[in-house]
Amino acid sequence: MDAPLKGLNKLSLKEVNRRQVVSALYHSGGMSKQQLVNELQLSLSTVDQYIRTLSAVGLVQSGNCLASTGGRPPRLLTVNPDYKKAVGIAVLNHVVHFAACDLFGRERAQQSCNLDYRHDKSYFTALSQAFESFLQANSLKREDLLSPYVAVQGLTDREGTSIVFGPLFDGVKLDAATLSLSLGLKITLCHDSYAACVYELWQHPELKQGVMFMLNRNFGGALFINGEVVTGLGGTAGTLEHYCVNPHGKLCYCGSRGCLETYCAADVLLTQSGCADRQEFFIKLRGGDSRLIELWQEYLQVLAQVARNVLCITDGSLLLSGYLSPYINEDDKGTLLRLINQNLPFKLTAERLVTGRGGDTAPALGAAQCALERYLNQEFSIRQVRGQF
Ligand SMILES: [Zn+2]
Repeated sequence: MDAPLKGLNKLSLKEVNRRQVVSALYHSGGMSKQQLVNELQLSLSTVDQYIRTLSAVGLVQSGNCLASTGGRPPRLLTVNPDYKKAVGIAVLNHVVHFAACDLFGRERAQQSCNLDYRHDKSYFTALSQAFESFLQANSLKREDLLSPYVAVQGLTDREGTSIVFGPLFDGVKLDAATLSLSLGLKITLCHDSYAACVYELWQHPELKQGVMFMLNRNFGGALFINGEVVTGLGGTAGTLEHYCVNPHGKLCYCGSRGCLETYCAADVLLTQSGCADRQEFFIKLRGGDSRLIELWQEYLQVLAQVARNVLCITDGSLLLSGYLSPYINEDDKGTLLRLINQNLPFKLTAERLVTGRGGDTAPALGAAQCALERYLNQEFSIRQVRGQF
């Protein structure tokens, strides 16, 4: 074997060992040096060397003493959760959400600001200022940030560099390069519904199969199988906003008629009710406003009709997320369940109808999870950390 190849192999082995050490500490929640030796079948001096290197950069930290088995008590070594922060941003039509989580996916910060999307310089300047204010308010240093994901109201290419379908976003002008320049960080684009579903599945690891209805001001949807969001051959799987409810219905922004978006976007509900926001709508609804009760029943009826049909295909759970979801109470869920089941041969059980935890910040929180998952996988070959912590 020649020298360069031998050198490369040595480097690869080092890298494999480094990844194994970090992965073992990450998944176990903490181990002593001797436990790492036993677990990884490495010598104590080798483990010691990796721990010293990883501690020097701040990735591994030494914690409490474990029970002694004779001699000096060993210290618990753990992955420092704050070694890096994953940031996610959701750039929506009227608002921008920022979120940050630690290396274990635990939420550390979130902030929102109202900003109407326009494809011009003033918008990107305002976005950049809002991002800087988010970082400062939460003591987040740029050098500690992983490359962020930005969730957008549009379908992106596989690489997350551009929007391939985004009529709500001034065509396909918004791209990762423009946002990267504006925010001063290399960013990757993702679909907001995809990101929201990633977050909700992170929060609900028991959900393996089904669809998510994202009840945002514009409707969104996602399909998940085996606990993963599925985007299909062309990246359009789960786009339930364009599920046709009535082929002779109102024109949707996509160019088709009678899409679910034209019935169940929260903006439709707000426009029809004359309410300024969801808070006003639900205060009046719960207060017994007969017009709003009627509108809400119609809304749930259409949701149920689509859910009924989709459930015939997925035979899974129905996950509710997005802007309206924090306001949906048990009575609403009972009504939805009754409407779905009244014309469905295979009944949807109550435990399969789940309300998510992210509300309207789910896309930003999910974008942060995407950034974290990519980093853990690329740097340490750590996969599937959802629901572990
Ligand atoms: Zn449509």
